[in-house]
Amino acid sequence: MKESQLAYPHELCCGCGMCSNVCPKNAITMKRDSIGFIYPKVDERKCIDCGLCLKTCAYKKSNLSTSVLETYVAVSTCTELNKSSSGGVFAAVAQIVIKSGGIVAGAIMDFVDGKALPRLECVSEEKGLDRILGSKYVQCDLPTDAYKAIKSHLLAGRKVLFGGTPCQVDALKEFVKGFEENLLTIDIVCHGVPSSTFFNSYLEKFQQVHDCVVTNYVFRDKARYGWNLIGSIYYSKGGRTFRKKVYGNEDSFYRLFLDGDIYRESCYTCKYACGHRVGDLSIGDYWGISKEHPEILSDNGGLINPDLGVSCLLVNSEKGRAFIAEHADSFSLYPSSYESAARNNGQLHSPAKRTPLRDMIFDAYEDYGYSGVETLYRKSKREGYTAIIIKNRVPKIVKRCIKKVLHTKR
Ligand SMILES: Cc1cc2nc3c(=O)[nH]c(=O)nc-3n(C[C@H](O)[C@H](O)[C@H](O)COP(=O)(O)OP(=O)(O)OC[C@H]3O[C@@H](n4cnc5c(N)ncnc54)[C@H](O)[C@@H]3O)c2cc1C
Repeated sequence: MKESQLAYPHELCCGCGMCSNVCPKNAITMKRDSIGFIYPKVDERKCIDCGLCLKTCAYKKSNLSTSVLETYVAVSTCTELNKSSSGGVFAAVAQIVIKSGGIVAGAIMDFVDGKALPRLECVSEEKGLDRILGSKYVQCDLPTDAYKAIKSHLLAGRKVLFGGTPCQVDALKEFVKGFEENLLTIDIVCHGVPSSTFFNSYLEKFQQVHDCVVTNYVFRDKARYGWNLIGSIYYSKGGRTFRKKVYGNEDSFYRLFLDGDIYRESCYTCKYACGHRVGDLSIGDYWGISKEHPEILSDNGGLINPDLGVSCLLVNSEKGRAFIAEHADSFSLYPSSYESAARNNGQLHSPAKRTPLRDMIFDAYEDYGYSGVETLYRKSKREGYTAIIIKNRVPKIVKRCIKKVLHTKR
């Protein structure tokens, strides 16, 4: 198999790693390109030209549902919401699966010597679950035997829950075809992934500036800042541990991520960014909840506290429907519609737009490293930036008072 024939066309390769898992001769390994995204590399000496990699490529085949069956506003009632990014739906499902003796597979992000190592991992005990909870806004690595490990659990008759990006879920479903009876899949609504190499360059820069070692990064620090796009970076210096608040609209990596400037090429044409989903269930933030369903919020006498996080839950298969019906007491569920959920969540109707800044950012990165990115970031996002910085620092209570005054004036 010639490399040029693999995952064609190259810019559509989502880096799911299916081809390297499926190759009977271990001839395919995932290698990083110059900006850190993983792509298949074929060892032509080992390749026997069987074509399995092409036949099973997630981008050529697909397990998309015909349409979403049910849409809910959902919040977990059986888990601590602070550890999850949205309404904790994944945590609730994962706990149920673990309690029934199953395995949960998802993205974790360890830190070793100041470096983030996001990757897919399986856990079989409740205490290991915390590592999978919460969004890590980078593409996670897939160990070459990631899907094989999941398949072996299924073959052994164990239940498996897999939660990941839609492309990963699609790849896994293809890989375990014929053995998926005990598999439950959840895809996350995903607007795109930056590379972990790029993220690590950003961390390196932070460490240089602060003369420290980064020990953790929580993208959505709900315990401190509520249901928001605000995180925390933890670092050690002189034997002590510190924490710095990271504003999503201010920090270079986070803002470039949110603005869609640093995604993998295939994310801009993502075929999963629509109302045909690949997982049995899909989960995302229920952005716009106060407009779509104000009556269920605690401010208006309802039971849902939006500060703790609210999920949108899409039920896409009979298996997903049966699971939710059987375990309905683990969630607060309010019927919604796909149109309502998608109105404030662009990824549910189209992929992220490729921005003019993307190529410039990656050119600067290749030429000058992360310092080049920072310089370009400051120049390109200058407009309104000071206002954002000031607004971020106005205490919440003051913001609430201003909102109230403006509301009563209207
Ligand atoms: C890169 C990325 C982009 C996202 N974009 C959107 C968006 O545009 N709109 C939206 O509504 N929601 C988006 N989300 C999802 C959202 O942030 C929450 O993860 C989701 O709502 C689930 O919330 P939860 O509270 O149920 O579970 P959580 O505990 O927050 O999430 C856990 C689940 O997320 C998976 N996960 C976390 N990071 C990764 C990763 N890097 N790769 C693969 N799987 C991962 C875990 O495997 C697990 O299945 C995105 C998440 C990621 C990782």
